[in-house]
Amino acid sequence: MVQTEAPTSLSLESLQRILHAAQYAAEKHAQQRRKGATAEPYVNHLLEVARLVSEALQKPDANLVIAALLHDVVEDAGVTRDDLVAAFNEDVAGLVMEVTDDKSLPKHERKRLQVENAPHKTVRAQMIKLADKISNLRAMLTSPPAGWDQQRRREYVIWAGHVVSGLTSPSPRLLTEFRALYVELLDTLPEGQSPCAG
Ligand code: ZN
Repeated sequence: MVQTEAPTSLSLESLQRILHAAQYAAEKHAQQRRKGATAEPYVNHLLEVARLVSEALQKPDANLVIAALLHDVVEDAGVTRDDLVAAFNEDVAGLVMEVTDDKSLPKHERKRLQVENAPHKTVRAQMIKLADKISNLRAMLTSPPAGWDQQRRREYVIWAGHVVSGLTSPSPRLLTEFRALYVELLDTLPEGQSPCAG
């Protein structure tokens, strides 16, 4: 009996585009390390976010996985929207821009805008946002940024929680994961018990 192709299968062309994005991201972020004490290569974060997104999908969405791999490339690696259109396509470029902060603004303002703008993101951009925050909370648990005292880590976790609670259509699977990390981190970072705080 002839097996019809499952609707969940990914084309060879999509697979190749995803690997192109992985290599592109690895090259653009080659000099960048994560903030944690172990200073992992930045591409580890990008692969983690893309994997989280892919595992939360109900059906294939190659452009979304590609955008997850490229989600920090404009903000951190000097790539432009036009570069992304040329190397990938409009859909990918649009998704990446949706999750890119305006670096001309002060850090505090960028963080405020992430909370304010979260509800207005498309469902697909919300998936990248949430996966990004999960990856960052995991890092906060296993390899927190060097030099961040407990209070600063706690403030980061609480801010990430504000961003995520603004998402109007979060993936239930990713939300469950985020909440578990959030609770665990706040447990390990009790308020006002920061002997290292200056
Ligand atoms: Zn990121």
